[in-house]
Amino acid sequence: MKTTAHNLGYPRIGPRRELKRALEDYWSGKIGRETLLAEARTVRDARWRDQADAGLDFIPVGDFSLYDHVLDTSALLGCVPPRFGEAGASVDLDTYFRMARGRAPTGEPADACEMTKWFDTNYHYIVPEFAPDQRFRLASEALFDEVVEAQAQGYRVKPVLLGPISYLWLGKMKGGADERLGFLDALLPVYGEILQRLSGLGVEWVQIDEPALVLDLPPAWRAAFEPVYNRLQAGGPKRLLATYFGALSENLSMACSLPIDGLHLDAVRADELVQAADLLPAYKILSAGVIDGRNLWRADLAALQGRLAPLAERLGNGRLWLAPSCSLLHVPVDLSQEMGLDPELRSWMAFARQKLDEVVALRQVLNGDAAEEALTAASAALEARRHSVRVHRADVAARLAALPPDAAHRAHPYEVRAEVQQARLHLPPLPTTTIGSFPQTAEIRAARRDWRAGRLDDAGYEDFLRREIKHVIRAQEDYGLDVLVHGEPERTDMVEYFGERLEGFVATAHGWVQSYGSRCVKPPVIFGDVNRPLPMTVDWSVYAQSLTERPVKGMLTGPVTILQWSFVRDDISRAEVCRQIALALREEVGDLEQAGIGVIQVDEPAFREGLPLRRAEWPVYLDWAVEAFRLATSGVDDTTQIHTHMCYSEFNDIIEAIAALDADVITIETARSDMELLDAFANYEYPNEIGPGVYDIHSPNVPASDRMQALMHAAAGRLGWSRLWVNPDCGLKTRGWPEVEASLREMVASARALRAEI
Ligand code: GLN
Ligand code: ZN
Repeated sequence: MKTTAHNLGYPRIGPRRELKRALEDYWSGKIGRETLLAEARTVRDARWRDQADAGLDFIPVGDFSLYDHVLDTSALLGCVPPRFGEAGASVDLDTYFRMARGRAPTGEPADACEMTKWFDTNYHYIVPEFAPDQRFRLASEALFDEVVEAQAQGYRVKPVLLGPISYLWLGKMKGGADERLGFLDALLPVYGEILQRLSGLGVEWVQIDEPALVLDLPPAWRAAFEPVYNRLQAGGPKRLLATYFGALSENLSMACSLPIDGLHLDAVRADELVQAADLLPAYKILSAGVIDGRNLWRADLAALQGRLAPLAERLGNGRLWLAPSCSLLHVPVDLSQEMGLDPELRSWMAFARQKLDEVVALRQVLNGDAAEEALTAASAALEARRHSVRVHRADVAARLAALPPDAAHRAHPYEVRAEVQQARLHLPPLPTTTIGSFPQTAEIRAARRDWRAGRLDDAGYEDFLRREIKHVIRAQEDYGLDVLVHGEPERTDMVEYFGERLEGFVATAHGWVQSYGSRCVKPPVIFGDVNRPLPMTVDWSVYAQSLTERPVKGMLTGPVTILQWSFVRDDISRAEVCRQIALALREEVGDLEQAGIGVIQVDEPAFREGLPLRRAEWPVYLDWAVEAFRLATSGVDDTTQIHTHMCYSEFNDIIEAIAALDADVITIETARSDMELLDAFANYEYPNEIGPGVYDIHSPNVPASDRMQALMHAAAGRLGWSRLWVNPDCGLKTRGWPEVEASLREMVASARALRAEI
């Protein structure tokens, strides 16, 4: 028996986002249930065909989803909160969608389930909700139907299940103490039933995902694995326990000794293969996740051959399996659609479909079948990339090296700066401002479309944007805001805009990745040293400032957020890439200052999500992330006021780093938490200014003045009045003008009422 090639999961959305369109058409009533299901089936069939064409030995089944695989698991296990109504024998389609989105073509609307980030990815899952007396039952046939469907087409399938411990870990109690581990008794019989059903369908192997094993787990959770997998072993298919996104570390030997038939490890982010080969008993297989499922670079197949050949030898007898490191959900579908991309850059990349070719090529070389061509081509591409002058720029290295040693420090501490800034800006107490964007109206989108299609020339588009900016400035003056913004009409996306203007970045045409449900993002690709050939935002800010006596904030996206929301080159560290982005932003900040912009905001909504999964790695990340922000923002005079903005985040455990950013003003999302998030700032005695959001921009409702005043009182109770700003929670781009106008007028009135009071 020889090396086996398999896959953990494949993108679901379709090469042209076919599933997205079908879902949205169904939700809006344009198509019916049967059409949606037929479209979904077409996408599903094409994915299987793709994977079979690549030559895999096993095709994953059950990794497809109409919305989210964790929600699918909740449906499978009959875990449906009571507010979605009495579920019938099985969870029907619209109940499923109501859990995800709060509403569906049929059924009563109800509050949607919570959504949160899947580990450290940009994918969001629907959080399972548990009640104190939670019960489970087999309540969906979808998995079994798909297995039958795939088998009927002749595929050798490997169904994928989210394991019971990770499922409970990712869920949340709704009311009552945390008794999630106690639910195992109710949950395991259902898993047992599922395994029996799969066995009945003739399934040989099932993949059980337990990514929780790469986390810092409390002892009780670690201890649960052995009894759980003991109880799940009776009969049924062979079990491949899959982990990904990091090292197992202290969990490795436990995982190796569980009563399972094989273990999958992420061998891109960790290097535990040899250790695992030593620990695994001879009857278990080891699946090496060697092709990066989190990034789009071509693999170094020759190096992998060198790494894997001895391992295959050591394991012997077909015990080595090969796969991508994790599900390919997190990379774009197919590079062959990128014919418009620069051919040299394209030759360095591999999307999901190409990654499968890499897995299969590796299997072939390890099995002694010819695959030399694939290996040589990969090595040639890698060699070209390694030496390309487009990747390595001496000028960038030189400018970084020439930075003074104190480049990441403002000249004077906050207290000194605050005084000179006040002398320049003359702001009232409780200054009012917004986070940056104003409504992205249908007219703005239409003008952009026309311009991109060549129906509107550059000058015409620029005129249009200037009129927009003027309108936004006049409106803000009229509402009585103190620090204005230009409204960001020229940006579709806060990272894409900068990616299009920085060298070292490239955009793809179809590089979409699912973010949640039908929503996809198309992250820019950072392939080389980052350089800013020209100012990126200065003209817009200068124009906006020329229209008003009041200060207008310059508006930039921070280095950490640009890094987090891009595909990043893997030949140097993320820290180094972040530093290069920071240098480019520092140059932009300097140009804004030179042009007379006195307030500059550098948004970092992704600052917290960059935290590594393991706490032990936090300090290193926080060090370079803070340093990058400071490098971007510290090259200015004391009189220039630096703002930053972060969306909803837990600040408690990173407050020291937040303070170390040393922004003069930070605005944060707090309205929905009743200002409780400010406790972290209060306990830490956070020294600089804060604008806690006083109303939730996610809702179209106009906030009441007394509610906003009460929130400000709650903020002042924690931090005092003197360093507070008044602003919404986040940018206004998804809102309409009528509610923006009413809300901002009400907000300014609230600030004025409070000023009279304090
Ligand atoms: N300045 C951005 C805006 O207002 C900030 C967006 C964000 O925090 N995600 O849209
Ligand atoms: Zn925000």
